[in-house]
Amino acid sequence: MNNQNLLDIAEEFGSPVYVYDSEKIISQYRRLTNAFQNVQQLRINYAVKALSNISVLKLFRTLGAGLDTVSIQEVKLGLAAGVEPSKIIYTPNGVSLEEIEEVSTLGVQINIDNLSILEQFGSRHPKVPVCIRINPHVMAGGNTNISVGHIDSKFGISIHQIPHLLRIVENTGMNINGIHMHTGSDILDIEVFLYASEILFETAKNFKDLEFIDFGSGFKVPYKEGDIETNIEELGEKLSARFNEFCRNYGRDLTLAFEPGKFLVSEAGKFLVKVNVIKQTTSTVFAGVDSGFNHLIRPMLYGSRHEIHNISNPEGKERFYSVVGYICETDTFANNRRIAEIKEGDILAFDNAGAYCFSMASNYNSRFRPPEVLWHNGEAHLIRKRENFEDLTRGQVPFNFEETGL
Ligand SMILES: *Cc1c(COP(=O)(O)O)cnc(C)c1O
Repeated sequence: MNNQNLLDIAEEFGSPVYVYDSEKIISQYRRLTNAFQNVQQLRINYAVKALSNISVLKLFRTLGAGLDTVSIQEVKLGLAAGVEPSKIIYTPNGVSLEEIEEVSTLGVQINIDNLSILEQFGSRHPKVPVCIRINPHVMAGGNTNISVGHIDSKFGISIHQIPHLLRIVENTGMNINGIHMHTGSDILDIEVFLYASEILFETAKNFKDLEFIDFGSGFKVPYKEGDIETNIEELGEKLSARFNEFCRNYGRDLTLAFEPGKFLVSEAGKFLVKVNVIKQTTSTVFAGVDSGFNHLIRPMLYGSRHEIHNISNPEGKERFYSVVGYICETDTFANNRRIAEIKEGDILAFDNAGAYCFSMASNYNSRFRPPEVLWHNGEAHLIRKRENFEDLTRGQVPFNFEETGL
């Protein structure tokens, strides 16, 4: 997918537009499965919340992946994409017992992350196998908003509550078939990951009928040239050896599971916008584009950095720009960034736009959400239309003041 391909896509489908390169998704998936080839049974469950377009889910199904879901709606999207229920794991946080029960009737693997629901679910459905989400209290991850394994985190059952957990399991007679952790995003330090894994192994010894151990995700991807990323190959080598050793002691081969979102789709995505206006002020040059944090909220929400390229003038002399959106409050994509000289009408491409970009988009300022295009085998395919005015008004029930009076 080169610059010309992207310019053609912006021309054909208009701007702004999201583009996903299937080749990159496939190569990331294979990179992960290769890194863990020494494990007898490996399962990669793609985290749907990163990018939930059904065509993307179908791509993962075709690759043999399962899905990691956090809501009943994500479960239903996965089923709509043809993924077998047995290959879907549901890891909600703070949802109602009713929703968990409903998902359970769909044949999906349930993962429970608190003792209250565990006890209620176990009492009512002792025969349904359940995975438990453990909080190993390991501080990992680059940003407190996406770091979920630390002591104050609302996620998972604390390792300090294992005695209580075991009592609930015994009292209800429920079947625990999996142990899970997910310590957060942007984990760089493999040693921290391995340390958390040891806690998981230690916990796993308490359960006799395990089928899998799920190590969650949190792999860091590069955002710019020279960025460090999680060393998947080294992690694969070390964790596989340790996992196989655990299985020998446990007496049975278990499945090693991961559930990455960002690692699989982040780099595959580009977000294309058009520059509406160049505005010189006393302190900077703004490039105002035809989008905003309604379409890509990560820089404003997490301070995350997306590289921005002027694909209309890639060889142009670099200058400093603040790239801003059209939302009527602070809406900054990039501050004081070196970008090849920008003219009004140029197309800018944002990198790392596959994960948590479209899936977090909204209609704020009553703008339409952009279309999504899949680049597959050298061709562009529309996989979601741009919204239109009917989409904005759908579901609204206009109140009739003429009839009721004021
Ligand atoms: C969000 C999430 C993931 C995916 O995290 P990434 O950083 O995108 O890889 C995996 N598991 C659970 C339970 C999650 O909530």
